[in-house]
Amino acid sequence: MTDNTNPDDVRTAVGESDPGPENTVLLNENPDSNLPPATDHGNPGPLWYSFDLAPKRVQPGGWTHQVTQRELPSSTEIAGVNMRLTEGSFRELHWHHANEWALMLKGKARVSLFQSDGKMFIDDLEEGDLWYFPAGLPHSIQGIGGDGCEFLLVFDQGDFSEDDTFLISEFMAHTPPELVRKNTGWSTDQVKQLPTKELYIFPGTAPGPLESDREFLGKNLEAVNRYTFKRSEMEAAENTSTGSVYIIDSKNFPVSTGISAAIVTIKPGAMREMHWHPNTSEWQYWIQGKGRMTVVTTGGTARTLDFNANDVGFVPSMAGHCIENTGTEDLIFLETFKSPRYADVSLNQWIARMPDEMAQAHLKLDVASIRSAPQERQATISKLPL
Ligand code: MN
Ligand code: MN
Repeated sequence: MTDNTNPDDVRTAVGESDPGPENTVLLNENPDSNLPPATDHGNPGPLWYSFDLAPKRVQPGGWTHQVTQRELPSSTEIAGVNMRLTEGSFRELHWHHANEWALMLKGKARVSLFQSDGKMFIDDLEEGDLWYFPAGLPHSIQGIGGDGCEFLLVFDQGDFSEDDTFLISEFMAHTPPELVRKNTGWSTDQVKQLPTKELYIFPGTAPGPLESDREFLGKNLEAVNRYTFKRSEMEAAENTSTGSVYIIDSKNFPVSTGISAAIVTIKPGAMREMHWHPNTSEWQYWIQGKGRMTVVTTGGTARTLDFNANDVGFVPSMAGHCIENTGTEDLIFLETFKSPRYADVSLNQWIARMPDEMAQAHLKLDVASIRSAPQERQATISKLPL
């Protein structure tokens, strides 16, 4: 549907007409809200927000905005931040209460993390790569490689705020200068030159080769790449003609004990099958394309709604859901969970495991017709019946 479609054109029945004012652009992006399917029932609470509506903090060197429990009140377990750093620019050295999981969306970055055993981890990442920084350990991110980077951060606290992190600048600026002097051995003049307020995001000079930084660290380098996970290391859990799923959790990325994730690609016309997660709610980031998601929770409360790139989706804990690619290009989205392990329950697989009488009693279909369709979980992604 294009932006100049009249939303009234799709309303045909008398009860669907809408003669008053309307936000045409918004309705055209949300056909399932304009004309909800008859299966919608009650209100399952907020399931959608977009980074493109979130307040954006723009500074020399980049920008940032966040979708947290404040913007999407249902999401008590996960919050997200989307950030851009130009080449050489830093997200200031900092640490925080939440665990941090990240996906590189564009470009290249150099990340560092300092461990409590005195060793420093440092690595370069590109589009599709991940990192995981445990709570409390200080880290930095710097844009590199010509155009810097854009990335998505996922935190395992719904009320996390990127404006509420511990910063190296503030630690030093708010400690009496004579104590900073005594602690560091710097002169009074040196201490006076330290930043007096937060840097947060600021321009810098692009660093030299990674190997130079690693050589500088020598025996103090944390040589095990435990905090980063490269796209090239990923193996698809499902890879079919209708799409693919990459699962990243503590099984293949052992440090990631606070957050698990799946990166899902759905081809045009295909869908992510009806399922739920037995352990936690789901926080989604929509990376590319468009689609619609149906969420069904207790009491038959249900909603089908539309999503576009840069949107955030939420599925309440254990609620049944499915996603259809409604666009013409591949739909790519990220599912994240506050859980060390990824787990889902497939409706189709469950039906396939039901003894005949059990299936017949519940589905009100004869056994032959139940078994004639490919209910077995052949793929997480399944093609729509034509
Ligand atoms: Mn951080
Ligand atoms: Mn799911």
